[in-house]
Amino acid sequence: DNIILEVKDLKKYYPVETGIFGAAPVYLKAVDGVSFNVEKGKTLGIIGESGCGKSTVAKLLMNLERPTAGSIKFKGRDTANFNESEMKKLRKNMQMVFQDPYSSLDPKKTAGYIIQEPLIIHNVGTRAQQEQRVKELLKMVGLDYYHANRYPHEFSGGQRQRINIARAIALNPEIVICDEPVSALDVSIQAQVINLLKRLQEELGLAYIFISHDLSVVKYLSDKLAIMYLGKIVETGKSDDIYKNPMHPYTKALFSAIPPESPLEEKEKMILEGDVPSPLKPPSGCKFHTRCPYAMEKCSKEEPSLKQIGDGQQVSCHLY
Ligand code: SF4
Ligand code: MG
Repeated sequence: DNIILEVKDLKKYYPVETGIFGAAPVYLKAVDGVSFNVEKGKTLGIIGESGCGKSTVAKLLMNLERPTAGSIKFKGRDTANFNESEMKKLRKNMQMVFQDPYSSLDPKKTAGYIIQEPLIIHNVGTRAQQEQRVKELLKMVGLDYYHANRYPHEFSGGQRQRINIARAIALNPEIVICDEPVSALDVSIQAQVINLLKRLQEELGLAYIFISHDLSVVKYLSDKLAIMYLGKIVETGKSDDIYKNPMHPYTKALFSAIPPESPLEEKEKMILEGDVPSPLKPPSGCKFHTRCPYAMEKCSKEEPSLKQIGDGQQVSCHLY
């Protein structure tokens, strides 16, 4: 079985007001019933604007927050039932690369120590073996051994993200969650880091969950995509299918924002009006209806569910 991670109906509700005098409590539904699978050696891209819940999904997967409902299965076993040693093993197997290469590295530690630290924490090998491994990891991410003695401020943003990646793969994880790993970098540097992630995936058989607000960034990396809007997946399927034929109006809008690859490429232009509504007061019915150019009367009343369309993608929209 190739499925490493199986997420079912995952929910994270944050109480924001307690119900008084019998009033119903108010919840911020950051993640509201999200399901997906991640396969060995493959990439799932999770796409959406800020506030759509994609970073909360990452925190739930990393066990930094407990879900309100739903299940996370790692290799067929529900992580909610893991004992301490199984949890420790899971933490070795699932690593994360964060968005901000500036604040995610401790300024008082050398690059070498930062990369070695997971090996120290998990007690992997002797000191000499760990130093050898650091040397190897630096090389794998395109840095030199002399970089080991330098401090984070001595590196560029792209180099800092390479250090983060080296640290994330130090323990030979099977899956790495990348939360907007290139969003803070210059466009010219973004491609280098994406190429590095792709090469490491091929060399190490890594699975990625690649979280981004930018569809053009995930294009070269994703096997599958899940498009999120206000805590829910509105479209999901094979990346190629969705790039060829985006179906949900929100996905179409995200795609029309990417510049065409050739001047002959015909693209439906769609500009999104306004910002994402507050997740505290999500619109009724289809949560996208306040911004959707195709909205019909039904859309503000009835919430569409995720439906399989043909043998391609799953879409939640009343148009289908
Ligand atoms: Fe637009 Fe209606 Fe489809 Fe929602 S259900 S995306 S409002 S057409
Ligand atoms: Mg985020």
